[in-house]
Amino acid sequence: MMKELSIYIHIPFCEQKCNYCAFASFCANEKQKEEYIDLLCKEIKTRKTKRPVKTIYIGGGTPSVLTETQIERIVVTLFENFDVYEDAEFTVEANPNSITENFLQKLKELRVNRLSVGVQSLKDKSLQKIGRLHDKNMAIEKIKLARKYFNNVSADLIVGLENENGKDLCRYAEKLLSLGVKHISCYLLEIYENTKLYQMIKNKEYCPLNEGQLIGAFNKLSNYLQDKGMERYEISNFAFEEYESKHNLNYWQRDEYLGFGLSAHSFLDGIRSCNASNFEDYKLGKTEIEKLTTKQQVEEIIMLGLRCKLGVNLSELKKLNYEIEKNDYFQDYIKQGIIKLKNDRLFLNPVFYHLSNTIISNLMP
Ligand code: SF4
Repeated sequence: MMKELSIYIHIPFCEQKCNYCAFASFCANEKQKEEYIDLLCKEIKTRKTKRPVKTIYIGGGTPSVLTETQIERIVVTLFENFDVYEDAEFTVEANPNSITENFLQKLKELRVNRLSVGVQSLKDKSLQKIGRLHDKNMAIEKIKLARKYFNNVSADLIVGLENENGKDLCRYAEKLLSLGVKHISCYLLEIYENTKLYQMIKNKEYCPLNEGQLIGAFNKLSNYLQDKGMERYEISNFAFEEYESKHNLNYWQRDEYLGFGLSAHSFLDGIRSCNASNFEDYKLGKTEIEKLTTKQQVEEIIMLGLRCKLGVNLSELKKLNYEIEKNDYFQDYIKQGIIKLKNDRLFLNPVFYHLSNTIISNLMP
């Protein structure tokens, strides 16, 4: 039987650049969008394989800035060239300001079954300061609309925004859950030098939470979501049973995937590659091949596995000649209940997720 794979498609367009964003995304006119979709469809056709597809994820950027015709062209090209399982998880990312009923209808027709909405906050002042184009009410209305079409709706929240403590975050989560959201991703605010937010902080126009406040806020939110019956199945991700993102679990267990579009990564037949991250180079089909050393593979297995509920497969590490049991910290961590061994897999106790960086780095070769 042929090995399954996942597919990621990157849509790099946004209506406006958010102040904190360092992703490969930019504002484009219709001509650029059409040109990009032509290239994307060409890439999809060129890289066709017979391997069955178990998950698809269209992310960005903001896929919901595309017209219904544009998204249809991409998905139809994909279905014509790949053998996608009938029950494949198919996620599209969307921002509240660009979600329309027509767009949702089209996604439904195209077999999309999961919508991931960039909510980030439910406080108007916060949203405005970080440069989002929606306010609280719009986010709520659009999630209600999305739920009319999709049972499986996920929402993103950012932890660390100015004047947003754990209590605020729990209030947002409460609202999202009351709207029927099944999955919540909670990302820590990261400040990148090339962003507007970095300048705002430097000019004392913006004051994100400090590290202690950040950890406190995240823990409060995390406890709240778990009290409500969600599982923290990865450091930043919470879901009700059966609603974990299969696509992301695929990355975390290092299964293979193909990525199409600007800056998209692929991992196929043991080879990792990345498409160019600027439009001109992407047009020329430039790709970088990355060959991981054995040490890098070991590090990746430990890092991805311990950050999620899947854990680390110890026989995989042994195949790469790393006996983690002989690591200086291993026995101590086991004794203290920080890590647990079960059926040849190693798990990080979720209670210690907030210390994961140190624990993971201590367990590295
Ligand atoms: S919508 Fe997302 S990708 Fe686009 S600018 Fe904002 S954070 Fe970046």
